Amino acid sequence: MLKTTLERLERNLSWSVLKSVWSRNYCMSSGIPRERVECVVIGAGVVGLSVARELALRGRQVLVLDSAPTFGTATSSRNSEVIHAGIYYPPNSLKAIFCVRGRDLLYKYCSQRQIPHKQIGKLIVATGSSEIQKLHNLLDRGIKNGVDGLVMMEGSEAMRMEPELRCLKALLSPVSGIVDTHSLMLSLVGEAENCGTIFCYNTTVIGGHIEQNQLCLHISQTKHLEMCNGNSPLQPEIVLIPKFVVNSAGLSAPALAKRFDGLQSAVIPTAHYARGCYFTLSNTGICPFKHLIYPIPEDGGLGVHVTLDLNGQVKFGPNVDWIDGIDDISSFLNKFDYSVCTSHMKHFYPEIKKYYPNLKDESLEPGYAGIRPKLSGPRQSPVDFVIQGEDIHGITGLVNLFGIESPGLTSSMAIAEHIATKFFRC
Ligand SMILES: Cc1cc2nc3c(=O)[nH]c(=O)nc-3n(C[C@H](O)[C@H](O)[C@H](O)COP(=O)(O)OP(=O)(O)OC[C@H]3O[C@@H](n4cnc5c(N)ncnc54)[C@H](O)[C@@H]3O)c2cc1C
Repeated sequence: MLKTTLERLERNLSWSVLKSVWSRNYCMSSGIPRERVECVVIGAGVVGLSVARELALRGRQVLVLDSAPTFGTATSSRNSEVIHAGIYYPPNSLKAIFCVRGRDLLYKYCSQRQIPHKQIGKLIVATGSSEIQKLHNLLDRGIKNGVDGLVMMEGSEAMRMEPELRCLKALLSPVSGIVDTHSLMLSLVGEAENCGTIFCYNTTVIGGHIEQNQLCLHISQTKHLEMCNGNSPLQPEIVLIPKFVVNSAGLSAPALAKRFDGLQSAVIPTAHYARGCYFTLSNTGICPFKHLIYPIPEDGGLGVHVTLDLNGQVKFGPNVDWIDGIDDISSFLNKFDYSVCTSHMKHFYPEIKKYYPNLKDESLEPGYAGIRPKLSGPRQSPVDFVIQGEDIHGITGLVNLFGIESPGLTSSMAIAEHIATKFFRC
């Protein structure tokens, strides 16, 4: 009976509940309560949720902490919702391996659970003769990455499939698709909870320190951080001593790792941020395309493409707008600038008209923005996902996830599988 009550309480997701459940075990020697737990996942984005579910299914006791009032409020709800095939990434890179594996896992997961998704296929298009070789390079890369079904098409053939499209050549990727990310995350939360995972929202990890080569996490209620003026040092309200920690804090994962006192700073990559804005098509109600339409990738992103969501809404974007970071605490609280500046619109029209010349002037409306958690800056070569365990940083049980930008949504279940298999053997 007591166990059931505690379990029910734990599912209530509130800080006060968590604290009262733990109060039996407080060690007050430092004045700050301390508690041992098995696994902590920091961040309830699609990657953290996938990791939590995977670990819980394998019998681990998992606690998920997120500074926000619910799951998926950061990058995981601000993206194109595309299930990528795995074409763009260097062969044998983590992005290539996890995208291909993650795509298959995601389609299977969504099909088995009736999560809204559609394998609508994608056309990557060359609109100028200088882009044709780049398209062939993408085909070669896709084949090396194990992407099935790729077809190089003459422009005329692609334009028969998509009458509003203009291009010289196109690469058809039939395995690309779209997914309702919110439904996906809701399902991951439900399955993790069914296996005993506790979700604790409004709870921020503000740093940590190393004791006996293990990371102790410093935790604070988000509402206290929101009131903090930055002048006085942050004090944890609880210290957690987990056996395993997965730092899946997305945009703020590097800033958080820098606050793990005792973790070598040399292993923490520099974070770069690239905002991507979307504009939606207004006043039509008619969707001009049946497939996703992508131009040749640009520096920092995949180019202003056409994405369709499962409600038939047409979105164009995202562009690449490099921005500066913000202070650590603001980043933990997701206070990034997500505004969509209408001044970007003038750059969208010519980009889109290269492949969709019938786009009417003044038909675009501001949509939303997301921020890419990048590890390379402007004009630098793209950097792979970074997944660091003890072999890299020497701290037992800590896994840091850095630079989980696109295709992170597609890769999420494969990243979770990899982490559970590689780092959770004992
Ligand atoms: C514009 C854009 C388009 C994209 N399009 C695609 C696409 O079409 N397909 C695809 O596969 N991928 C796409 N991606 C990438 C994909 O969205 C991300 O890789 C994925 O959402 C990352 O998930 P995450 O869980 O790592 O991070 P997030 O979703 O950012 O989650 C991190 C969580 O950590 C929490 N947090 C942060 N700091 C703390 C702290 N200190 N304490 C507690 N909690 C904390 C945050 O509140 C947040 O909930 C796109 C990304 C962008 C920006």
